[in-house]
Amino acid sequence: MNLQTCLPYAGREACQLCVDECHHAGYHAIEFTRVRTEVDAAGNPIEDSGFLAPVVLPDKCVGCGLCQTRCYGINVADKGLIPESAIVISAGAGKEDRQMAGSYLALREAEQAQRAAEIQSHTDRKK
Ligand code: SF4
Ligand code: SF4
Repeated sequence: MNLQTCLPYAGREACQLCVDECHHAGYHAIEFTRVRTEVDAAGNPIEDSGFLAPVVLPDKCVGCGLCQTRCYGINVADKGLIPESAIVISAGAGKEDRQMAGSYLALREAEQAQRAAEIQSHTDRKK
């Protein structure tokens, strides 16, 4: 979460697109917290002041990226309010399974060749 650009964290306006998207998808992995609460002259917090802002619950997030797509689609592409999505989902340590370079075809062929070699060596040992 980019606290500098996320609209409620930045104090710009209310926004809960990412929260709604996550809940509608059935994941319930984003909760609200209240930020930028104002205080009265005596220093006491004013009820319902400030904004509700999103907090991702890592143990519930499945990494689908719907929240990021929604933030980008509305706040960046449609309204031009922010330069890039304020919420960015990453797979987490050891969970990235995308090819960052090269081709999947070459990877699958190499895996196939390795399996064939393993089977061959297993067969040879049995002789
Ligand atoms: S949709 Fe984007 S700007 Fe809106 S609350 Fe979520 S992260 Fe912040
Ligand atoms: S990536 Fe995580 S937080 Fe975002 S919509 Fe999917 S489950 Fe929810």
